[in-house]
Amino acid sequence: MVDRLVNSEANSRRIAMVENCFGSSGQPLAEQGRVLVGEGVLTKMCRKKPKSRQFFLFNDILVYGNIVINKKKYNKQHVIPLEEVKLESLKDEGYNRNGWLIRTASKSFAVYAATATEKEEWMAHIEKCIEDLLRKSGKQPPSEHAAVWVPDNEASICMHCKKTQFTVLNRRHHCRKCGSVVCGPCSSKKFLLRGQSDKPLRVCLQCFDELSKERVRPPNQPQTLTNSPSKPVPDTAGSGGDSSADDDDSEDDDERVNTEEKHDEGFTSYNGVKNGFGKKVTTV
Ligand SMILES: [Zn+2]
Ligand SMILES: [Zn+2]
Repeated sequence: MVDRLVNSEANSRRIAMVENCFGSSGQPLAEQGRVLVGEGVLTKMCRKKPKSRQFFLFNDILVYGNIVINKKKYNKQHVIPLEEVKLESLKDEGYNRNGWLIRTASKSFAVYAATATEKEEWMAHIEKCIEDLLRKSGKQPPSEHAAVWVPDNEASICMHCKKTQFTVLNRRHHCRKCGSVVCGPCSSKKFLLRGQSDKPLRVCLQCFDELSKERVRPPNQPQTLTNSPSKPVPDTAGSGGDSSADDDDSEDDDERVNTEEKHDEGFTSYNGVKNGFGKKVTTV
């Protein structure tokens, strides 16, 4: 096990430092058997644009946050249990290089490393942690994952009706099932998507039809109560505008905080493997 290879004192110190950097904005991270495997900066594709985020890979969780002061202060902590994670490599496309998807039942997003080597390191380390965890627990990886949202700027017109031009008034919405950017009328219906929320969520008309058909089909297994919303939930916003709480990915509201554009991208590994990992991070 990796745990025994790691100097536990150094490990505790590193975890305390991560806790410190998040301060009161984060949760306690020290836990019996938890090891900080590595850390580094990755570019996370957010709703409006790609942003630098500090990622910490532990043997059981992936933690990331916004960088307030490089190496000193982070906020907006997110903790993802690795047991729920599935990775998917992305092909290089234009400026989007060295990327992969981090998918869970409740949230999926793309991240990008600075180089192909870093991508390999990150993915290999995360996969290894997931594998160890699942072997230990005997659990199965989740089969359903939340859609990856299409970034706003990739759609100037509705991806469903292909007509509505997005403007300040004609706001963009995201289908929670397929991740498409759609207009208000094309996403006026909601559907209960287990794994993402216990409330019905906005879906596009196409997904609504498909989901409704699925529900009518004779189920293979007895359906649970929570999976049977009896009817579509009308969009109660009324005003035609979107309730900002619905669509806004709150972690995106950080333009002013993240002022430093230059970060040390890279993956610092702490498990002492001598195969190119553990490269020294240079301070700017
Ligand atoms: Zn539309
Ligand atoms: Zn959809």
